[in-house]
Amino acid sequence: MVDTICAISSATGEAGIGIVRMSGPLSIEIAEKIFRSKRNISLTDIKNRFLSYGHIVDGNRVIDEVLIVKMLKPYTYTREDLVEIYCHGGIISVRKILNLIIDKGARLAEKGEFTKRAFLNGRLDLSQAEAVIDLIKAKTDSSYEQSVKQLEGRLTGLISLIREKIMAMISLIVANIDFPEDEIVEAQYESLLEDAFEVKDDLFKLISGSDRGRLIRDGINTVILGKPNVGKSSLLNAMLKYERAIVTDIPGTTRDIIEDYINLDGILLKITDTAGIRETDDKVEQIGVERAKKSIEDADLIIALLDPSQPFNDDDREIIKLLDNKKTLILLNKSDLKRKVSDEEIKDLLKDKKYMSVSILEGSIEEIENKIVEMFFQGQIVGKEDFYVNNLRHVRALKDAYSSMESVIDGIKRQEFLDLIEVDLRQALNELGLITGETSTEDILDKVFKEFCIGK
Ligand code: GDP
Repeated sequence: MVDTICAISSATGEAGIGIVRMSGPLSIEIAEKIFRSKRNISLTDIKNRFLSYGHIVDGNRVIDEVLIVKMLKPYTYTREDLVEIYCHGGIISVRKILNLIIDKGARLAEKGEFTKRAFLNGRLDLSQAEAVIDLIKAKTDSSYEQSVKQLEGRLTGLISLIREKIMAMISLIVANIDFPEDEIVEAQYESLLEDAFEVKDDLFKLISGSDRGRLIRDGINTVILGKPNVGKSSLLNAMLKYERAIVTDIPGTTRDIIEDYINLDGILLKITDTAGIRETDDKVEQIGVERAKKSIEDADLIIALLDPSQPFNDDDREIIKLLDNKKTLILLNKSDLKRKVSDEEIKDLLKDKKYMSVSILEGSIEEIENKIVEMFFQGQIVGKEDFYVNNLRHVRALKDAYSSMESVIDGIKRQEFLDLIEVDLRQALNELGLITGETSTEDILDKVFKEFCIGK
Protein backbone atom coordinates (compact mmCIF):
# COMPACT_ATOMS: atom_id res chain seq x y z
CA MET A 1 0.00 0.00 0.00
CA VAL A 2 1.12 3.56 -0.67
CA ASP A 3 2.10 5.26 2.55
CA THR A 4 0.68 8.48 3.89
CA ILE A 5 2.98 11.48 3.83
CA CYS A 6 2.89 14.75 5.70
CA ALA A 7 4.79 18.02 5.80
CA ILE A 8 4.66 21.64 6.82
CA SER A 9 3.69 23.37 3.58
CA SER A 10 4.00 26.97 4.70
CA ALA A 11 7.30 28.79 5.05
CA THR A 12 9.02 28.65 8.43
CA GLY A 13 9.06 31.72 10.60
CA GLU A 14 6.53 33.94 12.28
CA ALA A 15 3.34 34.25 10.28
CA GLY A 16 -0.39 34.49 10.78
CA ILE A 17 -1.13 31.00 9.54
CA GLY A 18 0.84 27.77 9.21
CA ILE A 19 -0.24 24.90 6.99
CA VAL A 20 0.30 21.21 7.63
CA ARG A 21 -0.58 18.89 4.80
CA MET A 22 -1.16 15.15 4.57
CA SER A 23 -1.66 12.95 1.53
CA GLY A 24 -2.35 9.23 1.18
CA PRO A 25 -4.82 6.52 2.19
CA LEU A 26 -4.60 7.11 5.96
CA SER A 27 -4.93 10.91 5.81
CA ILE A 28 -8.54 11.10 6.87
CA GLU A 29 -8.25 8.37 9.47
CA ILE A 30 -5.26 10.12 11.07
CA ALA A 31 -6.92 13.55 10.96
CA GLU A 32 -9.98 12.01 12.57
CA LYS A 33 -7.85 10.93 15.54
CA ILE A 34 -6.40 14.36 16.23
CA PHE A 35 -9.20 16.76 15.28
CA ARG A 36 -12.10 17.70 17.53
CA SER A 37 -14.65 19.82 15.75
CA LYS A 38 -16.40 22.63 17.59
CA ARG A 39 -19.79 21.21 16.71
CA ASN A 40 -18.68 17.69 17.53
CA ILE A 41 -19.06 16.34 14.01
CA SER A 42 -16.55 13.71 12.96
CA LEU A 43 -14.36 14.52 9.96
CA THR A 44 -15.86 11.62 8.03
CA ASP A 45 -19.25 13.33 8.23
CA ILE A 46 -17.97 16.75 7.29
CA LYS A 47 -18.54 17.51 3.63
CA ASN A 48 -15.76 17.07 1.10
CA ARG A 49 -13.78 20.32 0.57
CA PHE A 50 -15.64 22.17 3.33
CA LEU A 51 -13.64 23.99 5.96
CA SER A 52 -14.32 22.96 9.48
CA TYR A 53 -13.42 24.75 12.69
CA GLY A 54 -12.10 23.06 15.82
CA HIS A 55 -9.00 21.96 17.72
CA ILE A 56 -6.08 19.66 17.19
CA VAL A 57 -5.80 17.53 20.30
CA ASP A 58 -3.37 15.02 21.66
CA GLY A 59 -5.62 12.97 23.94
CA ASN A 60 -7.12 15.59 26.21
CA ARG A 61 -4.44 18.18 25.56
CA VAL A 62 -5.30 20.94 23.11
CA ILE A 63 -2.45 21.67 20.67
CA ASP A 64 -3.95 24.49 18.63
CA GLU A 65 -7.11 26.04 17.33
CA VAL A 66 -7.43 25.26 13.63
CA LEU A 67 -9.39 25.09 10.41
CA ILE A 68 -9.24 21.78 8.63
CA VAL A 69 -10.31 20.59 5.20
CA LYS A 70 -10.46 17.10 3.75
CA MET A 71 -10.24 16.57 0.01
CA LEU A 72 -11.24 13.17 -1.28
CA LYS A 73 -9.43 11.48 -4.14
CA PRO A 74 -9.26 11.65 -7.09
CA TYR A 75 -9.91 15.38 -7.43
CA THR A 76 -6.92 16.56 -5.41
CA TYR A 77 -3.41 17.82 -6.10
CA THR A 78 -1.90 14.40 -5.52
CA ARG A 79 -4.95 12.44 -6.74
CA GLU A 80 -4.95 10.87 -3.25
CA ASP A 81 -6.97 11.68 -0.15
CA LEU A 82 -5.60 14.97 1.16
CA VAL A 83 -6.03 16.83 4.42
CA GLU A 84 -4.86 20.36 5.12
CA ILE A 85 -4.74 21.89 8.54
CA TYR A 86 -4.53 25.66 8.98
CA CYS A 87 -3.13 26.41 12.39
CA HIS A 88 -1.40 29.39 13.95
CA GLY A 89 1.86 30.39 12.29
CA GLY A 90 5.27 30.31 13.88
CA ILE A 91 7.42 27.26 14.29
CA ILE A 92 6.05 25.49 17.34
CA SER A 93 2.41 24.83 16.51
CA VAL A 94 3.07 23.44 13.01
CA ARG A 95 5.83 21.20 14.37
CA LYS A 96 3.69 19.86 17.19
CA ILE A 97 0.90 19.03 14.78
CA LEU A 98 3.33 17.45 12.34
CA ASN A 99 4.83 15.26 15.07
CA LEU A 100 1.41 14.21 16.21
CA ILE A 101 0.50 13.17 12.68
CA ILE A 102 3.74 11.18 12.38
CA ASP A 103 2.96 9.47 15.73
CA LYS A 104 -0.37 8.39 14.29
CA GLY A 105 1.23 6.66 11.32
CA ALA A 106 2.16 9.11 8.56
CA ARG A 107 5.71 9.66 7.40
CA LEU A 108 7.52 12.92 6.71
CA ALA A 109 7.35 13.73 3.00
CA GLU A 110 10.51 14.03 0.96
CA LYS A 111 11.24 17.17 -1.06
CA GLY A 112 8.63 17.60 -3.77
CA GLU A 113 6.90 14.36 -2.87
CA PHE A 114 3.37 15.78 -3.10
CA THR A 115 4.12 16.98 -6.62
CA LYS A 116 5.89 13.71 -7.45
CA ARG A 117 2.71 11.87 -6.52
CA ALA A 118 0.72 14.28 -8.68
CA PHE A 119 3.05 13.33 -11.53
CA LEU A 120 3.03 9.58 -10.86
CA ASN A 121 -0.76 9.60 -10.60
CA GLY A 122 -1.06 11.40 -13.93
CA ARG A 123 -2.30 14.77 -12.76
CA LEU A 124 0.74 16.65 -14.14
CA ASP A 125 3.39 15.68 -16.63
CA LEU A 126 7.03 16.14 -15.75
CA SER A 127 7.42 19.52 -17.45
CA GLN A 128 4.41 20.79 -15.52
CA ALA A 129 5.84 19.50 -12.26
CA GLU A 130 9.03 21.39 -13.05
CA ALA A 131 6.95 24.48 -13.76
CA VAL A 132 5.67 24.23 -10.18
CA ILE A 133 9.24 24.54 -8.86
CA ASP A 134 9.99 27.41 -11.21
CA LEU A 135 6.82 29.19 -10.18
CA ILE A 136 7.79 28.97 -6.53
CA LYS A 137 11.33 30.15 -7.28
CA ALA A 138 10.42 32.86 -9.80
CA LYS A 139 12.07 36.22 -9.09
CA THR A 140 10.49 38.38 -11.79
CA ASP A 141 7.07 38.76 -13.38
CA SER A 142 8.29 37.38 -16.68
CA SER A 143 9.87 34.24 -15.24
CA TYR A 144 6.70 33.78 -13.24
CA GLU A 145 4.55 34.11 -16.35
CA GLN A 146 6.67 31.59 -18.23
CA SER A 147 6.17 29.10 -15.40
CA VAL A 148 2.43 29.66 -15.37
CA LYS A 149 2.31 28.94 -19.10
CA GLN A 150 4.37 25.80 -18.68
CA LEU A 151 2.15 24.71 -15.82
CA GLU A 152 -0.91 25.27 -17.98
CA GLY A 153 0.61 22.74 -20.35
CA ARG A 154 1.93 25.03 -23.08
CA LEU A 155 5.14 23.03 -23.43
CA THR A 156 3.28 19.73 -23.10
CA GLY A 157 1.05 20.78 -25.98
CA LEU A 158 3.95 21.77 -28.22
CA ILE A 159 5.86 18.59 -27.49
CA SER A 160 2.88 16.34 -28.04
CA LEU A 161 2.20 17.96 -31.43
CA ILE A 162 5.75 17.19 -32.49
CA ARG A 163 5.55 13.67 -31.10
CA GLU A 164 2.33 13.07 -33.03
CA LYS A 165 4.05 14.06 -36.25
CA ILE A 166 6.88 11.64 -35.54
CA MET A 167 4.42 8.88 -34.70
CA ALA A 168 2.62 9.46 -37.98
CA MET A 169 5.95 9.04 -39.77
CA ILE A 170 6.58 5.79 -37.91
CA SER A 171 3.13 4.46 -38.87
CA LEU A 172 3.88 5.25 -42.48
CA ILE A 173 7.13 3.35 -42.28
CA VAL A 174 5.60 0.39 -40.53
CA ALA A 175 2.90 0.23 -43.21
CA ASN A 176 5.59 0.31 -45.89
CA ILE A 177 7.69 -2.38 -44.36
CA ASP A 178 4.63 -4.59 -44.45
CA PHE A 179 3.80 -3.85 -48.10
CA PRO A 180 7.00 -3.15 -49.94
CA GLU A 181 6.18 -2.04 -53.45
CA ASP A 182 8.80 -0.08 -55.24
CA GLU A 183 6.96 2.97 -56.55
CA ILE A 184 5.07 3.43 -53.35
CA VAL A 185 8.32 3.35 -51.43
CA GLU A 186 9.79 6.01 -53.70
CA ALA A 187 6.85 8.34 -53.09
CA GLN A 188 6.96 7.63 -49.38
CA TYR A 189 10.60 8.65 -49.10
CA GLU A 190 9.63 12.01 -50.48
CA SER A 191 6.74 12.48 -48.14
CA LEU A 192 8.83 11.31 -45.18
CA LEU A 193 11.51 13.82 -46.07
CA GLU A 194 8.99 16.62 -46.05
CA ASP A 195 7.63 15.53 -42.66
CA ALA A 196 11.13 15.17 -41.23
CA PHE A 197 12.02 18.71 -42.25
CA GLU A 198 8.86 19.98 -40.63
CA VAL A 199 9.68 18.25 -37.33
CA LYS A 200 13.25 19.52 -37.46
CA ASP A 201 11.97 23.07 -38.00
CA ASP A 202 9.58 22.78 -35.08
CA LEU A 203 12.43 21.65 -32.85
CA PHE A 204 14.69 24.40 -34.15
CA LYS A 205 12.15 27.07 -33.23
CA LEU A 206 11.90 25.78 -29.69
CA ILE A 207 15.67 25.51 -29.30
CA SER A 208 16.39 28.95 -30.73
CA GLY A 209 13.98 30.60 -28.30
CA SER A 210 15.56 28.80 -25.39
CA ASP A 211 18.46 31.20 -24.83
CA ARG A 212 15.97 33.93 -24.24
CA GLY A 213 14.01 31.55 -22.03
CA ARG A 214 17.07 30.80 -19.95
CA LEU A 215 17.82 34.50 -19.54
CA ILE A 216 14.26 35.10 -18.41
CA ARG A 217 14.39 32.26 -15.92
CA ASP A 218 17.92 32.42 -14.56
CA GLY A 219 18.72 36.03 -15.24
CA ILE A 220 21.34 37.70 -17.39
CA ASN A 221 24.67 36.78 -15.92
CA THR A 222 26.27 40.19 -15.67
CA VAL A 223 29.80 41.06 -14.63
CA ILE A 224 30.91 44.58 -13.79
CA LEU A 225 34.55 45.21 -14.69
CA GLY A 226 36.85 48.13 -14.24
CA LYS A 227 40.03 49.06 -12.45
CA PRO A 228 39.66 50.31 -8.88
CA ASN A 229 37.85 53.56 -8.27
CA VAL A 230 36.07 53.88 -11.63
CA GLY A 231 32.63 53.55 -9.99
CA LYS A 232 31.75 49.85 -10.01
CA SER A 233 30.30 49.80 -6.52
CA SER A 234 28.48 53.05 -7.16
CA LEU A 235 26.89 51.48 -10.24
CA LEU A 236 25.87 48.38 -8.34
CA ASN A 237 24.46 50.42 -5.49
CA ALA A 238 22.51 52.67 -7.80
CA MET A 239 21.02 49.63 -9.51
CA LEU A 240 20.22 47.93 -6.26
CA LYS A 241 18.92 51.22 -4.97
CA TYR A 242 20.40 50.59 -1.57
CA GLU A 243 23.86 50.42 -0.08
CA ARG A 244 25.08 46.94 -0.84
CA ALA A 245 28.75 47.14 -1.73
CA ILE A 246 31.12 49.36 0.17
CA VAL A 247 31.84 52.57 -1.68
CA THR A 248 35.12 54.23 -0.75
CA ASP A 249 37.72 56.27 -2.53
CA ILE A 250 40.62 54.03 -1.58
CA PRO A 251 41.50 51.99 -4.68
CA GLY A 252 41.10 48.23 -4.31
CA THR A 253 38.53 48.03 -1.54
CA THR A 254 35.99 45.83 -3.27
CA ARG A 255 38.01 42.73 -2.67
CA ASP A 256 35.57 39.96 -2.97
CA ILE A 257 32.92 39.14 -5.49
CA ILE A 258 29.45 40.35 -4.65
CA GLU A 259 26.47 38.78 -6.34
CA ASP A 260 22.97 40.12 -6.42
CA TYR A 261 19.76 40.05 -8.37
CA ILE A 262 18.25 43.10 -9.95
CA ASN A 263 14.82 43.19 -11.52
CA LEU A 264 14.83 45.48 -14.56
CA ASP A 265 11.28 45.80 -15.79
CA GLY A 266 10.78 42.10 -15.36
CA ILE A 267 14.20 41.13 -16.66
CA LEU A 268 16.47 39.60 -14.10
CA LEU A 269 20.11 40.66 -13.93
CA LYS A 270 22.28 38.35 -11.91
CA ILE A 271 25.00 40.79 -11.24
CA THR A 272 28.54 40.19 -10.13
CA ASP A 273 30.72 43.04 -8.95
CA THR A 274 34.29 41.89 -9.18
CA ALA A 275 37.44 43.00 -7.52
CA GLY A 276 38.93 45.74 -9.61
CA ILE A 277 41.16 44.14 -12.17
CA ARG A 278 44.71 45.38 -11.89
CA GLU A 279 48.20 44.14 -11.34
CA THR A 280 48.62 43.70 -7.64
CA ASP A 281 50.88 42.10 -5.03
CA ASP A 282 48.19 41.91 -2.41
CA LYS A 283 47.37 38.21 -1.98
CA VAL A 284 43.70 38.66 -1.15
CA GLU A 285 43.22 41.03 -4.00
CA GLN A 286 45.00 38.63 -6.38
CA ILE A 287 42.51 35.87 -5.60
CA GLY A 288 39.71 38.31 -6.33
CA VAL A 289 41.27 39.22 -9.66
CA GLU A 290 41.57 35.56 -10.68
CA ARG A 291 37.96 34.94 -9.78
CA ALA A 292 36.91 37.99 -11.74
CA LYS A 293 38.64 36.63 -14.83
CA LYS A 294 36.91 33.30 -14.32
CA SER A 295 33.48 34.90 -13.99
CA ILE A 296 33.98 36.67 -17.31
CA GLU A 297 33.95 33.30 -19.06
CA ASP A 298 30.42 32.56 -17.82
CA ALA A 299 29.03 36.04 -18.35
CA ASP A 300 26.14 36.88 -20.68
CA LEU A 301 26.91 40.58 -20.33
CA ILE A 302 29.96 42.53 -19.26
CA ILE A 303 29.64 46.10 -18.10
CA ALA A 304 33.09 47.66 -18.42
CA LEU A 305 33.70 50.94 -16.66
CA LEU A 306 36.37 53.45 -17.56
CA ASP A 307 37.12 56.73 -15.86
CA PRO A 308 38.26 59.34 -18.41
CA SER A 309 38.70 61.93 -15.66
CA GLN A 310 41.97 60.08 -15.06
CA PRO A 311 44.54 59.09 -17.70
CA PHE A 312 44.02 55.55 -19.03
CA ASN A 313 46.67 53.03 -18.03
CA ASP A 314 47.66 49.39 -18.58
CA ASP A 315 44.89 48.20 -16.27
CA ASP A 316 42.31 49.75 -18.60
CA ARG A 317 43.99 48.19 -21.62
CA GLU A 318 44.03 44.80 -19.88
CA ILE A 319 40.30 45.06 -19.19
CA ILE A 320 39.40 46.05 -22.73
CA LYS A 321 41.35 43.01 -23.97
CA LEU A 322 39.09 40.75 -21.90
CA LEU A 323 36.01 41.96 -23.74
CA ASP A 324 36.56 40.37 -27.12
CA ASN A 325 33.73 38.08 -28.27
CA LYS A 326 31.54 39.11 -25.37
CA LYS A 327 28.35 41.11 -25.21
CA THR A 328 29.63 44.27 -23.64
CA LEU A 329 28.41 47.63 -22.43
CA ILE A 330 31.29 50.08 -22.13
CA LEU A 331 30.63 53.03 -19.86
CA LEU A 332 32.83 56.10 -19.68
CA ASN A 333 31.90 57.20 -16.19
CA LYS A 334 32.23 60.49 -14.33
CA SER A 335 31.13 62.62 -17.28
CA ASP A 336 30.46 65.35 -14.71
CA LEU A 337 34.22 65.74 -14.24
CA LYS A 338 36.73 67.24 -16.66
CA ARG A 339 38.16 64.68 -19.08
CA LYS A 340 41.87 63.96 -18.89
CA VAL A 341 41.92 61.80 -22.02
CA SER A 342 41.51 62.94 -25.61
CA ASP A 343 39.14 61.54 -28.23
CA GLU A 344 42.18 59.96 -29.89
CA GLU A 345 43.13 58.14 -26.70
CA ILE A 346 39.58 56.82 -26.38
CA LYS A 347 39.60 55.65 -29.97
CA ASP A 348 43.03 54.12 -29.51
CA LEU A 349 41.85 52.14 -26.49
CA LEU A 350 38.39 51.10 -27.67
CA LYS A 351 39.00 50.79 -31.43
CA ASP A 352 35.50 50.43 -32.96
CA LYS A 353 33.75 49.43 -29.78
CA LYS A 354 30.72 51.52 -28.89
CA TYR A 355 30.50 53.26 -25.55
CA MET A 356 28.21 55.45 -23.48
CA SER A 357 29.30 58.54 -21.55
CA VAL A 358 27.60 58.54 -18.17
CA SER A 359 27.72 59.94 -14.70
CA ILE A 360 26.57 57.35 -12.23
CA LEU A 361 26.81 59.93 -9.49
CA GLU A 362 24.55 62.36 -11.31
CA GLY A 363 21.78 60.03 -12.28
CA SER A 364 22.58 58.17 -15.50
CA ILE A 365 21.33 54.97 -14.01
CA GLU A 366 18.02 54.81 -15.82
CA GLU A 367 19.69 55.36 -19.17
CA ILE A 368 22.12 52.53 -18.40
CA GLU A 369 19.33 50.18 -17.37
CA ASN A 370 17.30 50.93 -20.49
CA LYS A 371 20.35 50.23 -22.61
CA ILE A 372 20.78 46.79 -21.01
CA VAL A 373 17.16 45.84 -21.57
CA GLU A 374 17.46 47.03 -25.16
CA MET A 375 20.63 45.02 -25.76
CA PHE A 376 18.89 41.79 -24.84
CA PHE A 377 15.35 42.31 -25.89
CA GLN A 378 15.40 45.11 -28.46
CA GLY A 379 13.38 47.20 -26.09
CA GLN A 380 10.51 44.77 -25.91
CA ILE A 381 9.83 42.73 -22.85
CA VAL A 382 8.39 39.27 -23.29
CA GLY A 383 4.90 39.41 -24.73
CA LYS A 384 2.07 37.68 -22.98
CA GLU A 385 1.71 35.19 -25.82
CA ASP A 386 5.36 34.19 -26.15
CA PHE A 387 6.54 30.99 -24.65
CA TYR A 388 10.17 30.03 -24.27
CA VAL A 389 11.67 26.76 -23.21
CA ASN A 390 13.85 27.76 -20.30
CA ASN A 391 14.83 24.59 -18.53
CA LEU A 392 18.27 23.22 -19.34
CA ARG A 393 17.06 19.64 -19.12
CA HIS A 394 14.37 20.35 -21.69
CA VAL A 395 16.78 22.17 -23.99
CA ARG A 396 19.17 19.22 -23.88
CA ALA A 397 16.38 16.79 -24.78
CA LEU A 398 15.26 19.06 -27.63
CA LYS A 399 18.80 19.25 -28.98
CA ASP A 400 19.16 15.46 -28.84
CA ALA A 401 15.86 15.03 -30.63
CA TYR A 402 17.06 17.57 -33.19
CA SER A 403 20.20 15.60 -33.96
CA SER A 404 18.18 12.38 -34.20
CA MET A 405 16.03 14.15 -36.78
CA GLU A 406 19.17 15.12 -38.66
CA SER A 407 20.08 11.42 -38.86
CA VAL A 408 16.53 10.69 -40.02
CA ILE A 409 16.85 13.23 -42.84
CA ASP A 410 20.26 11.90 -43.74
CA GLY A 411 18.89 8.36 -43.89
CA ILE A 412 15.92 9.32 -46.04
CA LYS A 413 18.15 11.20 -48.47
CA ARG A 414 20.34 8.14 -48.85
CA GLN A 415 17.20 5.97 -49.15
CA GLU A 416 18.36 3.78 -46.30
CA PHE A 417 16.27 0.81 -45.20
CA LEU A 418 13.11 2.12 -43.65
CA ASP A 419 13.58 0.19 -40.43
CA LEU A 420 16.90 1.98 -39.86
CA ILE A 421 15.17 5.30 -40.28
CA GLU A 422 12.53 4.13 -37.86
CA VAL A 423 15.21 3.55 -35.21
CA ASP A 424 16.23 7.22 -35.35
CA LEU A 425 12.62 8.35 -35.30
CA ARG A 426 11.96 6.29 -32.19
CA GLN A 427 15.06 7.79 -30.66
CA ALA A 428 13.72 11.31 -31.27
CA LEU A 429 10.38 10.25 -29.82
CA ASN A 430 12.06 8.96 -26.66
CA GLU A 431 14.10 12.10 -26.24
CA LEU A 432 10.99 14.25 -26.40
CA GLY A 433 9.30 11.89 -23.96
CA LEU A 434 11.99 12.77 -21.42
CA ILE A 435 10.60 16.30 -21.27
CA THR A 436 7.07 15.28 -20.46
CA GLY A 437 8.14 12.30 -18.39
CA GLU A 438 6.73 9.60 -20.65
CA THR A 439 10.15 8.02 -21.02
CA SER A 440 11.83 9.24 -17.86
CA THR A 441 13.96 7.04 -15.70
CA GLU A 442 14.00 6.93 -11.92
CA ASP A 443 17.20 9.01 -11.68
CA ILE A 444 15.77 11.77 -13.86
CA LEU A 445 12.78 11.92 -11.54
CA ASP A 446 15.03 11.96 -8.48
CA LYS A 447 17.02 14.86 -9.88
CA VAL A 448 13.91 16.85 -10.79
CA PHE A 449 12.16 16.46 -7.45
CA LYS A 450 15.30 17.14 -5.42
CA GLU A 451 14.96 20.76 -6.57
CA PHE A 452 11.71 21.14 -4.64
CA CYS A 453 11.16 22.31 -1.13
CA ILE A 454 9.59 20.05 1.45
CA GLY A 455 5.83 20.34 1.64
CA LYS A 456 5.24 20.90 -2.09
P1 GDP B 1 34.96 51.09 -7.53
O1 GDP B 1 36.29 50.99 -6.83
O2 GDP B 1 35.12 50.91 -8.99
O3 GDP B 1 33.90 50.23 -6.95
O4 GDP B 1 34.50 52.62 -7.39
P2 GDP B 1 33.46 53.27 -6.36
O5 GDP B 1 32.07 52.98 -6.80
O6 GDP B 1 33.86 52.91 -4.99
O7 GDP B 1 33.69 54.81 -6.67
C1 GDP B 1 34.94 55.44 -6.42
C2 GDP B 1 34.72 56.91 -6.22
O8 GDP B 1 34.24 57.53 -7.43
C3 GDP B 1 33.69 57.23 -5.16
O9 GDP B 1 34.14 58.33 -4.40
C4 GDP B 1 32.43 57.59 -5.96
O10 GDP B 1 31.59 58.47 -5.27
C5 GDP B 1 33.06 58.23 -7.17
N1 GDP B 1 32.19 58.23 -8.35
C6 GDP B 1 31.47 57.18 -8.84
N2 GDP B 1 30.77 57.55 -9.93
C7 GDP B 1 31.02 58.88 -10.14
C8 GDP B 1 30.58 59.83 -11.10
O11 GDP B 1 29.78 59.56 -12.01
N3 GDP B 1 31.09 61.10 -10.98
C9 GDP B 1 31.95 61.45 -9.98
N4 GDP B 1 32.36 62.69 -9.93
N5 GDP B 1 32.36 60.56 -9.06
C10 GDP B 1 31.93 59.28 -9.13
